[in-house]
Order: sequence, then structure tokens, then C-alpha cells
Amino acid sequence: MDSNERELKGFKPIVAAINSHRDEFEKLKDEDLAVKTEEFKHRLGDGESLDDLLPEAFAAVREAARRTLGLTHFDVQLMAGIAFHKGMAAEQKTGEGKTLSATTALYLNALTGRGAHLVTVNDYLARRDAGWMGPIYQRLGMNVGVIYAGQGDQPAGIFDPGYSAPASDDRLAHLRPASRKEAYSADITYGTNNEFGFDYLRDNMVGELDQLGQRGHHFAIVDEVDSILIDEARTPLIISAPDTDPTDKYFRFAKLIDELNPDIDYTIDEKLRVAQLTDHGLKKIEKKLGIPNLYEKDFETIHHMEQALRARSLYRRDKDYVVKDDQVIIVDEHTGRLMFGRRYSEGLHQAIEAKENVKIQQESKTLATISLQNYFRMYEKLAGMTGTAATEAQEFKKIYNLEVLIVPTHRPTVRADHPDRIYKTQRAKFAAIVEEAGELYRKGQPVLLGTRSIEINEILSEFLKRKKIPHNVLNAKNHEREAAVLAEAGRKGAVTVATNMAGRGVDIVLGGDPAGRDKKDWEKENRQVIEAGGLFVLGSERHESRRIDNQLRGRSGRQGDSGESRFYVSLEDEVMRIFGGDKIAGLMTTLRMPENEAIEHSLVSRAIEQAQTKVESWFFDQRKRVVEYDDVVNKQREIIYGRRRKILEDKSGEALVQATMEKIEEEIRTMVAAREAEGYSQVETEQLVREFAAIVPFDDESQRRLKAKLDDLDQGEKMADHLVEIASQVNRQRQEQFGAETARELTRWVSLRTMDELWMEHLDALDDLREGIGLRGYAQQEPLVEYKKEAFSSFEMLLSRIDGEITRRVFRVQPMGFQPKPIVTNLEFSKPEGLEKLEGTEGLEGIEGRGLPAGEAGKREEGRGLGLKLPFGKDKQREQSFASAFKNVAVNRPSGAGIVNKRKLGRNDPCWCGSGKKYKKCHYPN
Ligand code: ADP
Ligand code: MG
Repeated sequence: MDSNERELKGFKPIVAAINSHRDEFEKLKDEDLAVKTEEFKHRLGDGESLDDLLPEAFAAVREAARRTLGLTHFDVQLMAGIAFHKGMAAEQKTGEGKTLSATTALYLNALTGRGAHLVTVNDYLARRDAGWMGPIYQRLGMNVGVIYAGQGDQPAGIFDPGYSAPASDDRLAHLRPASRKEAYSADITYGTNNEFGFDYLRDNMVGELDQLGQRGHHFAIVDEVDSILIDEARTPLIISAPDTDPTDKYFRFAKLIDELNPDIDYTIDEKLRVAQLTDHGLKKIEKKLGIPNLYEKDFETIHHMEQALRARSLYRRDKDYVVKDDQVIIVDEHTGRLMFGRRYSEGLHQAIEAKENVKIQQESKTLATISLQNYFRMYEKLAGMTGTAATEAQEFKKIYNLEVLIVPTHRPTVRADHPDRIYKTQRAKFAAIVEEAGELYRKGQPVLLGTRSIEINEILSEFLKRKKIPHNVLNAKNHEREAAVLAEAGRKGAVTVATNMAGRGVDIVLGGDPAGRDKKDWEKENRQVIEAGGLFVLGSERHESRRIDNQLRGRSGRQGDSGESRFYVSLEDEVMRIFGGDKIAGLMTTLRMPENEAIEHSLVSRAIEQAQTKVESWFFDQRKRVVEYDDVVNKQREIIYGRRRKILEDKSGEALVQATMEKIEEEIRTMVAAREAEGYSQVETEQLVREFAAIVPFDDESQRRLKAKLDDLDQGEKMADHLVEIASQVNRQRQEQFGAETARELTRWVSLRTMDELWMEHLDALDDLREGIGLRGYAQQEPLVEYKKEAFSSFEMLLSRIDGEITRRVFRVQPMGFQPKPIVTNLEFSKPEGLEKLEGTEGLEGIEGRGLPAGEAGKREEGRGLGLKLPFGKDKQREQSFASAFKNVAVNRPSGAGIVNKRKLGRNDPCWCGSGKKYKKCHYPN
């Protein structure tokens, strides 16, 4: 007995316990069912555990589902629910009813009142499933929220049967618009992976506690977990703001590259995705640019040229990206989905835009970033569901600590999976596919023709058209419409050409969607399709990953339906060409393959499988690298976000003000002590005063008087005491002048803003560091180890810089429009005018001088984006909160492809470490 069976066997008694409550719950009145939820919560409070409550809670959900949706959880669905509750990933085949399976575990875990999240791959599914399962929770007295990207600013909703909006599908009709916060406050929240992740990042940019959306990361079930945690996990989530560099340079470089000859001027490696100029090409470029040595020019020029070359030679239109509405949109290489809003990073996207001659969008600056891996690892308990997890079990375990459980199907699968048909050429393969699709069409058996790319998708559609075979084409452009089309893919004689991911999550019912149909009619068609053999899945190519192939196959044969599947392969297919290597070429000659006939040969099938395994582990390594590198940042992110959170939670701000004053004192004492060795000479005290004036902004006259005073005191400790006393005086005066609350607010503002600003700089610096380390690879150093080491010291520097900056900023800010009075102090020398000097104070970006009209001030802030922002007096403060400062911030996810090719820090740029020295004089890799 293997471990899977053992685990399942352990679940049996629990299922029996759930079933033993069936009659009791069936007898309950509707009202009493909702009362059960209260009862469970009380018992939880009284010390019972979720495990104790599980059998009854699951029984309650099952009963509510029966009453509201007319669906009763099968035992295997209960088993999946138990697995979710135990924090496992359950593999349930497509069409087994995963949506319903999740409800038991979500309900049980939501009893804690700490929230439970259900994560989906797209907006449509988030809304559909919240609306579909909503009635179950509602009957039990729980509410459900949903977050999705959609249109507008952070859309969200609450399932509310009393609310009704026109919708193509009743499940989408009862989602009342609400705020993100409301949706997160619901007992259960459905939403897409990206939105959950972005909300987390956004929450760590707000200026007020009440602007937080999420309330912790308690329990999540990730639907289509392989897609989210594996396919999507190669690129981190990034929130960025647009930069304002000129864009014509991209066009210039695109043109330059166009003039090269691909045969002699550059070389391409498709597998590693690198393109390089040959000496010949290099000379040509240099001549055109009129410079003797390109590599001595500057990093930027080289970088742009490299990107233009990659754009030209490695990135193909309608395969890697499409051009739509004057935009370049990335196509997911695994699934053929269009990834709206995502951009290749580091100028590659712009280079492609230049190549395609569309409008160039600006580069952007990272404001916050997290990998999906690290986002999901924050959950106290994580569970997953998918039709295909087994092949990736090792990765789930290693990265997410998710054990995979294979849940048996409710009814046995009877789908016939035929062996691959192998052709020598792609042309012959396409002809054969169209031939077979035609035959199936005439026979009335529905066909789902799966393609890897939009390109092939369109080629096949063209062929079908020529043969006059009616068909639908789906390539993942509009999830909602797709769902409608795909739901009909099971109709008699339907031919549907779809990319892998198109309509994932949508059920293909034989005979079509019965909803709204005449029952007799539907039954007849259903019978006819079954007799014709059920849904035929025809794969037009093997994917690099076996899992994606299995996904496609799984579209047929749901819930014991009849069905068939077959893959068509040609030796010219990408997976064969790039990863099959010599083995495939050798096979061609050994087997003496005829041009137009298919063979089915185990040797070839094995070679394919080997190639797939190879690619899978290659991608696994890539994803592991993303995590390993993100792990380094992750620890730092936790610290920074933790501090941020503490400031937010310090409602009165008193602790913060006190801590800031302590920092200032420390700073002053260090400052003074540093001069002890020199014996406090004239020069020294003068310097001391200047440094002190960086903290408390005195004018020249006051500084002169202060210096005289210090010279008078002559002794280090006395000097320090004196300066500290001045600082606390100023602090008190500010409190009187602005009011204690506003003064505290200002401190908060400065602290948060300074932290954010420097943290974001640090993120960019780490990116550059990672690349710099990559360049150093040849020096026999382990890049990751080096990266960790340097990231660590750079972080230490960051922390002390944050403190230093805060102490130097905190006395320099004041509410906008505030008319300062002279500060009155009992220190005889000072008629401090510090605050009046504010306008002229340099080194503090975005500071608002008095008398600037609010509008003007606002504009300046907007332009800078990251400058220090001043509060506008009590009520406007909230209005002008951080959140709104970040409102226009772009949210995107560049593709992993860009990660290998970061924009380089110029040798003459300031070093990333913040030393103020030039990069080449500081951390520049030698
Ligand atoms: P999956 O996500 O596993 O592919 P879905 O959740 O989309 O599957 O459900 C597929 C179909 O199975 C839906 O039409 C749903 O109504 C049906 N279904 C799910 N559970 C049950 C059940 N216990 N009894 C009857 N039908 C069910
Ligand atoms: Mg599903």
C-alpha cells in the first residue's frame, strides 16, 4: 500500500463521522442551520478544536449545499475537503467538482473568524465561484467577498442575493460592489492570486491603519494550484511607478539592428534565449554610431543595443507576444494566455515596442515587489486543488511544504488515451490533424483541439476554414466569453480550437450546457454525443511540461463520461527541436520515417517524455532561483514591513515620537563623542554645529551663537547634554505650535515616508546587485552566496540610513499653510528661526514651503512621486493619504525573461549602497 492509499484510508473514519450526522442535519429547519454556525463558534471559544468540529461542520455545509444548490458533496469531495483542512494539495480530476469540495474546509476554517481565502486563476472564476458557492455560506450565516482586477479601481464585491445586476450567468448577478476592505472582512474571500498579492504590497504602502485591506493570512486554498504556484511563479509581483526617460532612443536602436545581417552580424541561441553581436556586427554598429569602441562607451548604449537585438531576433510576434490596440501584450509561453498589463522588464518591452513601431510606454521604478512563492508562504495554512499535481509533487513539497494527495474520482475514468501519432514534418502533422478533426465533425463527435500558441491556433483555424469545417476559436482573450463558448464545446459536432489555458476551470458537459435548455432536447443530444464517443481531445503538439498535456487530456472524460484523447507530434515541434537534441535526429534516420505517414513508436514517445522531464526540471531550477533570491529580500521585507506596521499600529504616535527623540539623542551623542579625540578644537565645534544644524535647522546667526556656547562649555558631555536639551526644546515647541497631535502626525509621516523611499531605493539597488553578481560569476564565486552577503550589508546600511534620515528630516517638516511663530525658548542664545528657514532647506525633496498654493504643491508632489510628502493640516491629511499618493501607480508583472537582463547601473552613477561615491569607485565588480 503506498502512502497515498494510506492517507486516504486514514480519512475514511472521518468521512464516516461526517455521514453519521446526515440525518440529524437534514431534519434541521433553515434557521437552525444558521444557528449551528454560532454554536460551532462558541464551542471553538470553549476550547474545542477545528478537528473536533470537523464532522459536524462538514455535515452542515453538505446539507446547506443540498438545500441551496441541489448538490450533495460526494464522499471523495469530503476527502478533498479534509485534505485542504490539513493543508495539503489535493489532485482531483477536471470536472470532479473542486469548487464544491473547497466549501467544507473554507467554512470550517472561517469559524475562527480570521478569514479564509480561495485563490483563483482569473477574475471570471473568482466571481463565478463566489457567486456560485455564495448561497451555501449564506444559508449558514456566513458572508462571502470577492476581489478581482476587472475594471475600475480595485474592484470588489459581496455576495448578496438581494442585489441583482444584469449578467450573462446568474452566478455573476448577485455580487454587490463593495470596498476591498469589506471583501476582506467577509468570512470567506474569493479572489485572484495577483490581486491578493498586490493588496498585500499596497497594504504596506498606506499611511493609516484604517486603509489596510487585508487582515492577515490565515488560511488559503489555491485553485488550479499548479498554474498559480508553478506556471505563474517564475515572475514576481511588482508594483512600479512610471519613469520619465525619453523614448526615441529605442526607435534609434531598433533601426540600427534592422540594418544588420542576421547571417553574419549576430548569433542566436534559442534555448538559452541569448543573441550576440559578432565582431562583424559590432564593427558595423560602431561605424554607424561613429564611435571607435562600443564597449568603452557606456553601459546604457550597450544595454539598449542588446535589448534591441533580443527584441529583433528572439521575440516573435504572435508567439511570444501579440500587438493589439497599439500595444505589445505578452503571451504566456505555457498556456497561450494574453498577459495584459504585464511587461518585460529592463527596456526589453520598449525595444519590442520600437521594433513593432507602436507607442513606447515608459520604463518604471519598483515600489514594491514580492514573489508569489513568498506571498503564499505567509499563510499559516495553505492548501491547493488541481486536476494535475502529481507530476509536480516534489516542487509543492519543497517550496510550499504542500503534500500532494491524489483523490480518487467519484466514478471511474473511462476515457481512451490513444498513443501519439508522430510525423516527420509539421506540415504533414497539421494536414493529419485537420483530416481527423473533419472525420470527427462528420461523425458528430465533439473535438477540442488544443494548441500551445496563438500562432498555431490561428494556422489550424485557417486549415479548418479551407476544409469548410465550422469551428470556434479560443485563445484566452476574454474569460467570460470564453467560458460561454467552451461550455458548448461538448455539443454534437462542435469543433473548438483553443490554447491550453483558454477556459480553464470551465466545465465541458457532453451535449452542451443544460442550463436554459429544453430538458428532452438536451438529453437527446447528450445521448448522441455519448454514443459518438464523447469529447475527443486532440493535442496538436506536446507541451514542454507533461502536466499541461495532462490538463488538456483531462478536459475529456469528466465524471465517468466517455471520451478520447490523442496527441499529434512532429519532429519539427519546438519541444523536439530545442530539447530533443540529437536523439530525435538520430531516430529519424534509424526509423526511416516516411514524409506523410504517421508512426506510433515507443522509442519516440520515450524520447519525448525524457525531453519533457528535462525541461520540467530546468524550469523547476529557474523557479527555485527566483525563490532563493527572493528569500534574501523576503527577510528584509519582513523586517521593514514589520516596523512599518508597528508605526501604523501606534495609534497615538507617542511611542514613535519618543523613539525618534531617543534616536536624535543617540545621534547627537555619537556626533559629539566622535570629536573627543581631537579635543574639541574650534574647527571641531564648528563642524559639530553644522552637523547639529542638519537635525535642527538653525540659521547662520543661531549657529554662530551655538558655537560660542559650545566653545564655552568646552567639555564633551556638557556639550552633548546641551544639544540634546535644545532638541527636546524644539520638540516641545513644535508640539505647542502645531498641536501635539499634528506634531505626532508629522513624525509618523516622516518616518513612514523615509522608510518607504529608502526601501524602494534599496530594492532597485538589490536588483542591480543581483545583476552585478551575475557578471562576476566567472570569478569562481557562488553568486547566491555573494548576493546574500552583500544584500545583508547593504541592508544594515539601509537601516542606519533610515534612522539617520528620519532624525534629519523630522524637525524640518511642518503642516502646509502653517504660519510659523518664532519659537520661544529659554536657552538664552537662541532665537531659533529654524522652522522659518524651512523653505530654503535643501536635501529634502518635495517639501512644501509656506504660501505655496495647495494646488501647486500637489503638482510638485505628483511629479516626484517619491518625494517627502507633507501633511496638509488635519482634515486634508487624510485625504492626501499615502494611498492616494500611490493611486496612479502602475501595477504590473514583468516576465521572468527580463530578469536575466537587468538595466545596468552606469559606472559613473552613484553607487547603489548609498555611500555617495560613484559606482566605479565603490561596489563596481572588478
Ligand atoms: P472542477 O473544478 O473539478 O473541474 P467544477 O467545480 O467546475 O469541477 O464542477 C464540475 C461540475 O460538476 C459542475 O457542473 C458541478 O455542478 C458538478 N458537480 C460538482 N459536485 C457535484 C456533486 N456532488 N453532485 C453533482 N454534481 C456535482
Ligand atoms: Mg475548477
